[in-house]
Amino acid sequence: MKVLKFGGTSVGSPENMRAVMQLITNGEQKIIVLSAMSGTTNALVEISNCLYKKNKDEANIAINVLETKYNKVIDELYISDDSKKQGNEVVEKSFDVIKSFISKEFDLLGENTIVAQGELISTQLVAILMEENGFDVKLLPALDFMRIDENKAADMNVISNNIKKVMKEVGEAQYYITQGFICLNANGHIDNLQRGGSDYTASLIGAAIDAEEIEIWTDIDGFHNNDPRYVTNTRKIDQLSFDEAAELAYFGAKILHPQTVFPARLHNIPVRLKNTMNPADSGTLITSESDGKGIKAVAAKDGITAIKILSSRMLMAYGFLKNIFEIFERYKTPIDMISTSEVAVSLSIDNTKYLDQIRTELEKYGTVGIDENMSIICIVGDIIQEERGFASKVFNALDDIPIRMISYGGSRFNISVLVPTAHKIQTLQSLSDNILNNNN
Ligand code: ADP
Ligand code: ASP
Ligand code: MG
Repeated sequence: MKVLKFGGTSVGSPENMRAVMQLITNGEQKIIVLSAMSGTTNALVEISNCLYKKNKDEANIAINVLETKYNKVIDELYISDDSKKQGNEVVEKSFDVIKSFISKEFDLLGENTIVAQGELISTQLVAILMEENGFDVKLLPALDFMRIDENKAADMNVISNNIKKVMKEVGEAQYYITQGFICLNANGHIDNLQRGGSDYTASLIGAAIDAEEIEIWTDIDGFHNNDPRYVTNTRKIDQLSFDEAAELAYFGAKILHPQTVFPARLHNIPVRLKNTMNPADSGTLITSESDGKGIKAVAAKDGITAIKILSSRMLMAYGFLKNIFEIFERYKTPIDMISTSEVAVSLSIDNTKYLDQIRTELEKYGTVGIDENMSIICIVGDIIQEERGFASKVFNALDDIPIRMISYGGSRFNISVLVPTAHKIQTLQSLSDNILNNNN
């Protein structure tokens, strides 16, 4: 069985929802994972922010704008009065939940409950549409099987066991529809897989049912060799290895949630990226094979903070790194890049929740310097197969860029440089112009 995920734009209008229905109804049994309609999760986050600030009037306005949008969708989506009635009931129920928080204390559980409504609505609306059109469709409630543990990591055992149970309970169907993004956490409370998490849902389900393929349907024809939001002349890549795709997704390629590749790689399930608006295009295929063509792509991850610790002793003492790393471990703060010299170590983090505490503890070991607003630029490919002189090509391309850190050799698939975010677009464009789009 295949698992197909459709993102926000793919279900972003009645017209697109109908296009999705056409695409998926080829007679083959499948699981379809849907995101919220585009713009909805942002709107729900905004409503939550108003509620945190106890700004009830603004929250009410934002809720009404969103509800009016959904009422219009229902009007345009269905033909029969019965389907319209069902659609209206779905929307009303979710908006009753959202509105109930206006007069309650607001906390993270409230926020998670509100942002979950986007996927809960879109899946039910598409299921009603498919029923109206005579298709054999059933909903698989994601909250009955999607689970994260106390470390917020996907609980693969629970997911595998539960999804099989839920599929049995709802009964045989040709098309199963489920919500991306949402899950329960270790306390049994509603939670989510972070922004963009529907891709991850699809790959977790793919792994749980040992799917034949995981397809991520979106609004672009596949994985491009650079970020099309910032750079001109990007090109689609036909084939990527799991390792290459994992590095690019982790280091900021928005087309894939950072963790999507891991379950697929573990179970060796091909991931195909496809364009809902142009289904004839072959898209990008991600498998264990690399097509061995050297540098493939670059991506950028923003919101990075660089920390430098200059050792108070003259030489890098035995155990120095261990002590430094233990501080980050204690504060559950992952380190992305690291580079060392005899007297100093620089590293980068993206989670600054405990930065003040970390700085205080690091100061026991030396002088600490912190640079914020940095971006990691990640250059990915099968670098070992690149011809000699590659490193000099990268440095020539980055001639005008104030590089803060470089990481080379950590893996054969990746070279990373840390630059001020103000120089990100220039860096990405220069890599496209001088390396990716230049075969000399
Ligand atoms: P969806 O809502 O379908 O999940 P996303 O907006 O999350 O879609 O991801 C698709 C978008 O990712 C594209 O429209 C594009 O702007 C952006 N993007 C960023 N980097 C890349 C890349 N390397 N290749 C393709 N798209 C990218
Ligand atoms: N709707 C969620 C978001 O906007 C999840 C997703 O689209 O993947 O982040
Ligand atoms: Mg996405």
